Amino acid sequence: MVGDVTVSSYYFPFSEQGGQAALQASAEAVSVYSNRYGAYPHKTLSLVMGDFNDGMEYSAFFYLSRDFYSLYDGTPANYLTFVAVHETSHQWWFEQVGNDQAEQPWIDESLATYSERVYYENIHPDLINWWWSYRIDFYKPQGFVDIPIYDGLGFRPYTNAAYFQGAHFLEELRARIGDEAFFAFLQDYLAQSRGKIVTANDFFRILKEHTSTDYSDIVRQYFQNIY
Ligand SMILES: [Zn+2]
Repeated sequence: MVGDVTVSSYYFPFSEQGGQAALQASAEAVSVYSNRYGAYPHKTLSLVMGDFNDGMEYSAFFYLSRDFYSLYDGTPANYLTFVAVHETSHQWWFEQVGNDQAEQPWIDESLATYSERVYYENIHPDLINWWWSYRIDFYKPQGFVDIPIYDGLGFRPYTNAAYFQGAHFLEELRARIGDEAFFAFLQDYLAQSRGKIVTANDFFRILKEHTSTDYSDIVRQYFQNIY
């Protein structure tokens, strides 16, 4: 239980340790994101061990690859933990704030990836540097954040750009405008966008309402379109 939200983890008996760890991380993430972003919109969240090679989000529900359970090492420094909290954050970025996932996939995926960092800084702050190097910079991410999936990039160049460069963009933006403005923006972005399908223009319009600091050089560095 996280407040009045019931979090359930479904797994096979041979993955007891991972199944419990994914449950713990997801419950912690519901608490962190409720505090940082806004309320969780459902009374339940179910995470289910899946037989395909990644995580996948749905409403109040997500799959986690069985491979993450197999590789789980008993610590929070692994794929099981950060993909569990990534998929949990999609209950804010995708489930509450919708976007065109083909034309502007960065809108939910950059925030979901950055939410992994927000989870670690609140629950396991000693692992922030590990997360940046193992999860993000190991792949030497490059490319523009705002690519459509139709650009024909493979899985790695696509995730490098939309997810990992997206996380770097949000980190630089946060450092530039400050924590207070950054999280006030995210809370207002959620409040104004809840139940809607937003575009990049909405993201930057609401951002502008929360800071007078010039961040245009960061946008030019990370985006191919002009915002
Ligand atoms: Zn995602």
